[in-house]
Amino acid sequence: MLLIECPWCGPRAELEFTCGGEADIARPLDTDKLSDREWGEYLFMRDNPRGVHKEQWLHTQGCRRWFKVTRDTVSYDIQGYETFGDANSPANVQAKAQQAAQQSAQQGTQGSKQR
Ligand SMILES: [Zn+2]
Repeated sequence: MLLIECPWCGPRAELEFTCGGEADIARPLDTDKLSDREWGEYLFMRDNPRGVHKEQWLHTQGCRRWFKVTRDTVSYDIQGYETFGDANSPANVQAKAQQAAQQSAQQGTQGSKQR
């Protein structure tokens, strides 16, 4: 059994938690323009790596908050925790950069259509 450290409640038994699968999956911004294949990939396709992997967990029988766990899928060794509201976490900084890049790309295509 894993000993999982909730960022708010401290270390607790794995039985108190629910794994929500792979973390850092960003919802596409413009869902109307997605093909069925792209929408299906967003909804269902997940990585299943052998090694270090980032997952989201819910403290179901505790504070009922979501957080992220970096875990090695081979050794079950937990390497770190992150909260979703931590704006300076590496994942959140990366997500903001991706969002900004997508928005600037969309603005670029909109600008070329207007000409
Ligand atoms: Zn908790």
